[in-house]
Amino acid sequence: MPNVAENLNVPPPNHVLVLDGQGWIGLVDQMGTETSIVNAARVSFGKIRQVMDQRDAALVKYLIANHHTSPLEHVMFTFLVHCPLFVRSQWHRHRTWSYNEISRRYTNEDITFYLPGALREQAESDRQASKVAEHINQDECRSLIAKHHAASLRLFERLLAEGVCREQARGVLPQNMMTTFWATVDLNNLIKFIELRDSPHAQSEIREYGQAIKKLITPIVPHVAEVLNWS
Ligand SMILES: Cc1cc2nc3c(=O)[nH]c(=O)nc-3n(C[C@H](O)[C@H](O)[C@H](O)COP(=O)(O)OP(=O)(O)OC[C@H]3O[C@@H](n4cnc5c(N)ncnc54)[C@H](O)[C@@H]3O)c2cc1C
Repeated sequence: MPNVAENLNVPPPNHVLVLDGQGWIGLVDQMGTETSIVNAARVSFGKIRQVMDQRDAALVKYLIANHHTSPLEHVMFTFLVHCPLFVRSQWHRHRTWSYNEISRRYTNEDITFYLPGALREQAESDRQASKVAEHINQDECRSLIAKHHAASLRLFERLLAEGVCREQARGVLPQNMMTTFWATVDLNNLIKFIELRDSPHAQSEIREYGQAIKKLITPIVPHVAEVLNWS
């Protein structure tokens, strides 16, 4: 059974908070260990080992260094992710994950919005990037964003009260709306995700989730974490 609360908007027991505590990611299910990796790699010898030794640790290192990555696919993780819609959009570009998400066609409860703790300025050098703000009036801009969230929610509720269906009314809710999704991935594709999303090129909000994933899975794959310098 996945280790998860009945209400999926509540973080599961094994979780890491991100985005100033407004978002979180939990590890709710898992299959395989590093022994699964070395056993898969050595399957051609027809032998199975139950416990990792130093040679197995060296084999994990060799597999990753030489891109012999299919044995990593025998380790799987399921996460429950609570994040803003714009993070969800970036995440779901990773096609090798399996996803299921809460639907605003079915429920209009628990609607919350991400309010950034610190707003950043646009970077001049890179149109995709941002930098620490020097000229932004943080209090005023954050207050404007909070007002916009509240006005959007009022409009959404007004539309529902007017009889508009949820699937159309949700169109007025902004990108900062929090969503929750269930996501399963194998270790090989998870490593690719972390390389892309815990990178200085990635948006800092999704980067926090990439870093949280490292914290959650390092106890399960410590040698992989060591080879990839995750600490
Ligand atoms: C910093 C950053 C900026 C980005 N900016 C943009 C942007 O401006 N616009 C935009 O549209 N996207 C953008 N992306 C998304 C990016 O183009 C990829 O869609 C995303 O990173 C997923 O990578 P992926 O395809 O390797 O992952 P996955 O979909 O998980 O695939 C993992 C690997 O599986 C293989 N694979 C999966 N599906 C296929 C397939 N159909 N055919 C062949 N091989 C496949 C590939 O080897 C792939 O690398 C950005 C990503 C990052 C990290």
